[in-house]
Amino acid sequence: MYYANKKTVEDLDVAGKRVLVRCDFNVPIVEGQITDDLRIRESLKTIKYLIQKNAKIIMCSHFGRPTKVAPEFSLALVVKRVEKIIGCPVKLAKDSIGADAKALVENIKEGELVLLENLRFQKEETENSPEFAKKLASLADFFVNDAFGAAHRAHASTVGVCKFLPSAIGYLMQKELDTISQAINSPKRPLVSILGGAKVSDKIGVIHSLLNKVNTVILGGGMAYTFAKANGFEIGTSICEEDKLDLAHDIMKQAQEKNVKLLLPTDYVVATGFRNDAEFKTVPVSQIPPDYMGMDIGPQTANTFSKAIRESAGGTVIWNGPLGVCEFPNFAKGTKQLAQTISETDMISIIGGGDAAAAVTQMNLSEKITHISTGGGSCLHLLEGMELPAVAAISIK
Ligand code: ADP
Ligand code: MG
Repeated sequence: MYYANKKTVEDLDVAGKRVLVRCDFNVPIVEGQITDDLRIRESLKTIKYLIQKNAKIIMCSHFGRPTKVAPEFSLALVVKRVEKIIGCPVKLAKDSIGADAKALVENIKEGELVLLENLRFQKEETENSPEFAKKLASLADFFVNDAFGAAHRAHASTVGVCKFLPSAIGYLMQKELDTISQAINSPKRPLVSILGGAKVSDKIGVIHSLLNKVNTVILGGGMAYTFAKANGFEIGTSICEEDKLDLAHDIMKQAQEKNVKLLLPTDYVVATGFRNDAEFKTVPVSQIPPDYMGMDIGPQTANTFSKAIRESAGGTVIWNGPLGVCEFPNFAKGTKQLAQTISETDMISIIGGGDAAAAVTQMNLSEKITHISTGGGSCLHLLEGMELPAVAAISIK
């Protein structure tokens, strides 16, 4: 097990004690509305457990990437949804380690909940400042980390705080680690990975690592054009990383040597600009016009990819990154077709957070997916075989 020697929340004697819980309430917001509350819903199990054990619960989270204190980054935008999902009132502190947080924590009773204001209002959070971590820790008797989405970052509230308090991982963190590490390290085969998203450079380490583990790799999204160019095709104005052409070659060679089936798009939907209303058409990979950019996989490719998924029934699929610019409806068809096929195929399916997860949720297919991860970056870390600093920092049993 990934965290075999680490304490989990049930190893702490929390009754009557102050417990600082690092949650990941960094939910997507459009025009003031939460568009996906999966991260809040998934944190419920740990919170419920702590309430039931009569702990005094101090939740904390980051929210967006603020450069200064600003209302659009306040957890005030999130706290009502947290209350609704947990079904209890939550007091929001005006700061994270300041006078208001201290006052609320001072008076907190058993079973009550306080939420500290956005940790990233202090730059010390991402700097992993020991002073900040110490002040945060001084609010509580125990620390529970349930923020899988932030576990790949060594910040004050994920790693730093563990120096100052007995710590444990929460139920959400356990579920993520169990499901993802099982799928990658002892999967039901065949194991297929789908990789998309914008850039090859984001996922180089992951591709290399996956080549030693999977039976099939399906590549789409923006990164596929670097591979198309490496194969000698003209790719118009498509996104491309010129300095990764050799790497793309090397990946294709390695796949062959390791007997991994590597599927690349054979046709594309190309457009005159990076906009939903840009003029578009479908062309084979050999005929991308000079003034067009690739925005989605074409229908032939979507069918080939779907067939590969269906042929892997009974196995496992791990998907990270959309196959096209799926935030624009005109270029979401490939991503949607694959999501549909996966939901109809009997297999263990894991979606590694972010944009691909949003597409699946929008299509109301979440129920048919085995696991939608709350952390894209952390999921990639695990796929790459890397340690998560936030888990490494937790107390030993
Ligand atoms: P995820 O969040 O699912 O892990 P990434 O963040 O790596 O995925 O990538 C998502 C981004 O990839 C989306 O914003 C999308 O616009 C972009 N993308 C996908 N296909 C293309 C493409 N053909 N050209 C440019 N960008 C693309
Ligand atoms: Mg993303």
